[in-house]
Amino acid sequence: MTIDVNQVKQVEATYVLQVYRRIPVVLVRGEGSRVYDADGKEYIDLLSGIGVASLGHAHPVLADAIAAQAHELLHTSNLFFHPLQGQVASALASLSGLTRTFFTNSGTEAVEACLKFARRYWFKNGSPSRTELIALDRSFHGRTFGSLSVTSEASYRKPFEPLVPGVTFVSPDDPESLHRAVSGRTAAIIVEPIQGEGGIWPLSPAMADVIRTVCADTGTLLIADEIQCGLGRTGRPFHSATLDLRPDLMPLGKSLGGGVPVGAALMTERVAEAIAFGDHGSTYGGNLLACRAALVFLDALQAGLIDRVNTAGARLEAGLRTLAERYTAIREIRGAGLMWGLDVDKTVAEVIVGAALDQGLIINRTADTVIRLLPPLTISNDDIDAGLTRLDRAIETVTAGTT
Ligand code: PLP
Repeated sequence: MTIDVNQVKQVEATYVLQVYRRIPVVLVRGEGSRVYDADGKEYIDLLSGIGVASLGHAHPVLADAIAAQAHELLHTSNLFFHPLQGQVASALASLSGLTRTFFTNSGTEAVEACLKFARRYWFKNGSPSRTELIALDRSFHGRTFGSLSVTSEASYRKPFEPLVPGVTFVSPDDPESLHRAVSGRTAAIIVEPIQGEGGIWPLSPAMADVIRTVCADTGTLLIADEIQCGLGRTGRPFHSATLDLRPDLMPLGKSLGGGVPVGAALMTERVAEAIAFGDHGSTYGGNLLACRAALVFLDALQAGLIDRVNTAGARLEAGLRTLAERYTAIREIRGAGLMWGLDVDKTVAEVIVGAALDQGLIINRTADTVIRLLPPLTISNDDIDAGLTRLDRAIETVTAGTT
């Protein structure tokens, strides 16, 4: 099928709400860690649709499972049982230790559910005034009202205020400020074990220590937002475990469906006991299509994908460290597994992303100065090496003469 690229852009500019500043490329096809645009140009995809295409593109097992499910039954609503929700929830329970799952269609809805469940927990347990939340500077938890209220970025928040009240932000670099922020009204602390949109900032062990202490001393619930960093991305099922954090609630999304929109709010039995029939719901959440996709992903995760992430992650990290030695424009690299950020000068960040695109490489910029890499968890050594070569060329073009 021939695609008229200009027409695609024009129709979209006319009818689609203009909230995304799109990269001027029309992607039409993918295979593994590679995608192709309408002109047939090939790109190595080191972003995987912002950490979503966890099994790569057009994964044959996922594609077959989705097609088979479509031929059987796609949706029943949550009025009925179907065979797959329990299977996904039990796989998530054995990976996380969190024994109950509420299914959503996106990350922000999973966060939203966790915030509601934290409130519900204290309402049920005789402390209805424990309604407040503590979140971190540089956080990103989504765009709905609740999740936006715990997202720190002022430009996202300002046009929509007033948001949900009672949120205090503390600096992730000042663990003691968390002690001071917790009060008898605090319901929960919400953190990303590695902050994603904020610029790939792993939570420090010192901060994790204080979170652990504060939660143990005050009963404050911990919500670990693993939407971007969880589900194998950092070489463990969940990055909170790496930090020895034991969350009460955990929103998931992105990787879980491998591209089929599915999210989940995981919780302990203690939290689940506070939630009653009718307290929350979703028409689509956990439908057969979503669950079938999630099962394919979770099967892969349990069948060696995490080992592969560790091997691939070490290779990628070594390559990035070599680049950091070569180019003074790279000030720092941060991350784990297959989640990396290169902190570069603000003046070159976006230019490098553009130069990479010219080289046939998809990466993106977040938090002004950070070039972010979230490749498919299945990425091959060859694609890592080819991606690093293209990144090297892109940085060289941009910084030639300045390093
Ligand atoms: N939480 C984190 C840590 C995220 O990275 C994101 C998305 O980037 C979200 C929540 C929101 O997820 P979604 O865009 O699926 O609503």
